[in-house]
Amino acid sequence: MNVLVCGGAGYIGSHAVIELLEAGHNVIVFDNLEKGHRAAVAEDATLVVGDLRDPVALEGVFADHSIDAVMHFAAYSLVGESVTQPDKYYDNNVYGSYCLLQAMRKFNVNKIVFSSTAATYGEPEQVPITEEQKTVPTNPYGETKLAVEKMLGWYDRAYGLKSMCLRYFNVAGAHESGTIGEDHTPETHLIPLVLGAALGKTDCIRIFGTDYDTPDGTCIRDYIHVSDLAAAHVLALAKLCEPGAESNIYNLGYGHGFSNLEILEAARRVTGIPIRAEMADRRPGDPSILIASSDAVVRDLGFAPRYDDLDVIIQSAWAFFKAHPNGYES
Ligand code: UDP
Repeated sequence: MNVLVCGGAGYIGSHAVIELLEAGHNVIVFDNLEKGHRAAVAEDATLVVGDLRDPVALEGVFADHSIDAVMHFAAYSLVGESVTQPDKYYDNNVYGSYCLLQAMRKFNVNKIVFSSTAATYGEPEQVPITEEQKTVPTNPYGETKLAVEKMLGWYDRAYGLKSMCLRYFNVAGAHESGTIGEDHTPETHLIPLVLGAALGKTDCIRIFGTDYDTPDGTCIRDYIHVSDLAAAHVLALAKLCEPGAESNIYNLGYGHGFSNLEILEAARRVTGIPIRAEMADRRPGDPSILIASSDAVVRDLGFAPRYDDLDVIIQSAWAFFKAHPNGYES
């Protein structure tokens, strides 16, 4: 199939491109390179630089390539920034997605795998979190992702556009080749920041909050390896191509979690470096525990993780960061 990957030069999108190529698909990446990196796009994929909100550029891609299906990763994803600049998030994440869906309709493309988030749940009612739990986002980032999920639901009903929305928990690690990985500016995520401290880019890592209602007092998150996450997208696409396929929403995590202090210990173990840590105040808006129920994705899509091991996840990220201490510019 010819698969259009919007945001395919980003962290998760670039890993999905590799999984799609390995599954035998032809991949066209559409990315404005604002957050993505040209060097992250696999050589065997075609890169078109453009913005979803530019109809000339976007429709040009559909006109030039006979697109069969879309994977959509192009979005802003910084929770804090979304609170201070919600306009940016509604414009890129919601309006950008609307433009994509309109182009898909115009070119009769009716399959999309959408990059969603556990932030759609907000503060969970119980863990592990199942897909049936209430969605009450606590920030504009989660709101914009939920808005697109809902838009997809209505577009299915009205126009027969079929979607798979994948709600990611905490994504980490890097491709086993060591050639692609995480390179965000600014970086806000725990694992890259801990490894940045190991590399000496910062003096220490600050652990946000030690008084949560968890065994060691720090937050617990469900970390999924980015290549497992990417592989699940290919499974979701295959499911959408089955006759009579229905739209659906799935959590993507491993179903178990690690505390922030456990991440720190694992990073010290893997790197062999006594990474310095400072205990700090809570970061506003952080739920204490986020763990996915992954039953549905395992049952319906046959999701079978290959990298469900914290040390393996951190080792893969470490290999990428050592080879690219300044990201793709290294
Ligand atoms: N965290 C931390 N120090 C940092 C960055 C993150 O203690 O410098 C904590 C954060 O408060 C949360 C966990 O690490 O409890 C995971 O945060 P991250 O930003 O990686 O992902 P999120 O769960 O927000 O999607």
